[in-house]
Amino acid sequence: MSDRLEAAIRTIPDFPEPGIEFKDITPILADPELFSEAVELLQTPYSSADVTHVVGMEARGFWFGAALAERLGAGFVPARKPGKLPGATISEKYALEYGADALEIHDDLLGRGHRVLIHDDVIATGGTAAAVARLVKRTGAEVVGFSFFVELTFLNGRKKLPEGVPFRTVIAV
Ligand code: AMP
Repeated sequence: MSDRLEAAIRTIPDFPEPGIEFKDITPILADPELFSEAVELLQTPYSSADVTHVVGMEARGFWFGAALAERLGAGFVPARKPGKLPGATISEKYALEYGADALEIHDDLLGRGHRVLIHDDVIATGGTAAAVARLVKRTGAEVVGFSFFVELTFLNGRKKLPEGVPFRTVIAV
């Protein structure tokens, strides 16, 4: 793990509400070397996993997610907030570290035989990733891994995810 990557993450206290320590990765995205190193570290554990698609969560899961998919030679499928996708969708509700919401994917992009890697920038309580895993399973596709840039270990979000599926994070705090 690169110390430079960890040092570039900005921790913003009390954002977006009191008590939340927000992990801001935009300084990594803005630096070409750090951006490239981050995507490489996300890709390495799954380079031989025959991933066919990366599913990334709105919005911060799109940033590394699409780059990661391209590096893996996989497609990218966005999981978006309700009402944002124009086609027919399936939807799952979830609870957040702050608030509650739902995510949707287009229902015709994934199916049986697809091997899906679920990616987000941060895993906090794990509710979002668990909901996306349920969405992917409903399409008939297989979840072959979870990939996060930052894990907030004190929230133990990985416990909410299906057992036996590989789980990788670049930075654990
Ligand atoms: P959770 O469902 O609790 O694992 O929340 C994960 C989602 O919320 C991800 O999309 C994260 O980007 C965002 N998130 C939750 N907590 C934080 C945090 N402390 N810093 C940055 N993003 C967060």
